[in-house]
Amino acid sequence: MRTTLDGRRFDLLVIGGGITGAGVARDAAMRGLQVALVEKDDFASGTSSKSSRLVHGGIRYLEHGQISMVRESVRERETLLRIAPHLVHPLAFTWPVYRGARVSRAKLRVALGVYDLLAGRFWSRSHRMLSRSAIEALEPCLETADLKGGATYQDAATDDARLTLANVLSAEAFGAVTLNHTEALRPISRDRSEWVVDVHDRLTGIETEVRARVIVNATGPWRLNLERRWPQRTAQRRGSKGVHLALRSERVGNRGAITIIHPDDGRVMFVLPSQAHTIIGTTDTWTDEAPDEVSASEADMAYLLKAASTAFPESHLTEDDVVSAWAGIRPLADWEASRNPSAVSREHRIDRNGVGLITVSGGKLTTYRAMAAQTVDTVERELDRKPSHCKTADTVLSGGERSVEIASLIRNEPVLGKSVVPGLPYTLAELRYAVEKELAVTLSDLLLRRTRIAYETHDHGASALQSIVGFVAPLRKWSPDRIREQVDAYEADVERIFGVIPG
Ligand SMILES: Cc1cc2nc3c(=O)[nH]c(=O)nc-3n(C[C@H](O)[C@H](O)[C@H](O)COP(=O)(O)OP(=O)(O)OC[C@H]3O[C@@H](n4cnc5c(N)ncnc54)[C@H](O)[C@@H]3O)c2cc1C
Repeated sequence: MRTTLDGRRFDLLVIGGGITGAGVARDAAMRGLQVALVEKDDFASGTSSKSSRLVHGGIRYLEHGQISMVRESVRERETLLRIAPHLVHPLAFTWPVYRGARVSRAKLRVALGVYDLLAGRFWSRSHRMLSRSAIEALEPCLETADLKGGATYQDAATDDARLTLANVLSAEAFGAVTLNHTEALRPISRDRSEWVVDVHDRLTGIETEVRARVIVNATGPWRLNLERRWPQRTAQRRGSKGVHLALRSERVGNRGAITIIHPDDGRVMFVLPSQAHTIIGTTDTWTDEAPDEVSASEADMAYLLKAASTAFPESHLTEDDVVSAWAGIRPLADWEASRNPSAVSREHRIDRNGVGLITVSGGKLTTYRAMAAQTVDTVERELDRKPSHCKTADTVLSGGERSVEIASLIRNEPVLGKSVVPGLPYTLAELRYAVEKELAVTLSDLLLRRTRIAYETHDHGASALQSIVGFVAPLRKWSPDRIREQVDAYEADVERIFGVIPG
């Protein structure tokens, strides 16, 4: 693997394989730059697999006057629906309004009108105000006491980890070298025209030097860790922690996506369908937790369960209903500790240090493509070129043929159609496909991001682990020692991601 980096001189080294880095690598490769992308864990292992998975304008940001960010987001929603119809799909939301709610029907009508207007002509009538009985018909299990009516509106949803992976695979298809489990350690030197950076293959332990004229730091909430090792350190910024819970959808009782208001602080939150599960999220609290260690606390769980229980009182939800709880850190570009994190702008920022290091921070999953386009313009300027034409808005993302290829694997070898975990929709064929075609290297890659088995089972896949290992080990040529390492590493990841902090 290292030979692909050794001795080569790249125009651009992207550090960080979340949605931001993956989007930058793809755009730059499409413009003909020689690109390397290194990710210290797996692609999307950071915030980009812990989001609410919405491709949305973020209607709640209208309340904070972030009109231009919402406009950019809803336009990007349109673009992503066009270039990635296999990954981004429309999702209708129901917004029930109760007597005395912070967001009244009148306020909601105006907000949704503006939201649709910002999105342009196609979306101009995406929302509809609804009577109480219409809301009850749409979502029969919702609380009905004091229900006054509400609205439906359209947004879109995706699988964040898969969207990231699609950008990585597309970057590769356009010639980029993309390596997961490879950490950028430190710059060794920088002369007039190029950086030499020490990178470490965390699977083999081998260190290599990478030469690149420009570096993009796309490490999201790890940004500061990397900057500490770099000569030009910038001010410390922390992020805001967001927690989600997954519950079996029949326990919650929702039929579709619902926007709810938390009864304690009036924050806008979501109840989101995700196959057999319902995802409740999210919290938004300042944190200084290390991004590698961040996890949900009992208080976060109680806060989210309270919102869900208030909306669905007949479900009598308890902690025992929680299949999994996890947290991510929003890499906010700008913050003031005194402010409510929900009110801080989700806009991105691109900083140049003047000697070929560009840092991208903030932004949203939804706006990654636009963010990448601006970043690559900056990279080209740094390379003393005029920014060339960005093609990402018109070029379909990879992956549309995935289901056909998986079906064909099953046709040729019917045993591959067997479910990996009873009750979940993943087949052995998908595991094989992930290993052979989707850069999955470890058990964690397979169970946390190529599939979501770890998120969708109470035991995080433990009861199926032996049979999964039995299937994957020959594909990856794992020795018995390597199998033990893989299982240990997976169990450590599960504890790190899903362990709940007391208090
Ligand atoms: C709870 C929550 C809900 C959200 N919901 C939404 C939503 O619904 N819609 C939306 O549009 N946005 C949402 N967001 C925002 C969105 O998820 C983030 O803006 C986005 O995922 C950030 O991506 P990133 O690539 O910048 O960071 P990350 O995904 O964190 O990627 C950074 C990567 O850098 C790697 N890295 C770090 N250091 C190194 C190094 N030295 N060498 C190599 N690699 C390194 C890390 O391992 C990591 O994978 C949400 C965020 C949170 C926290």
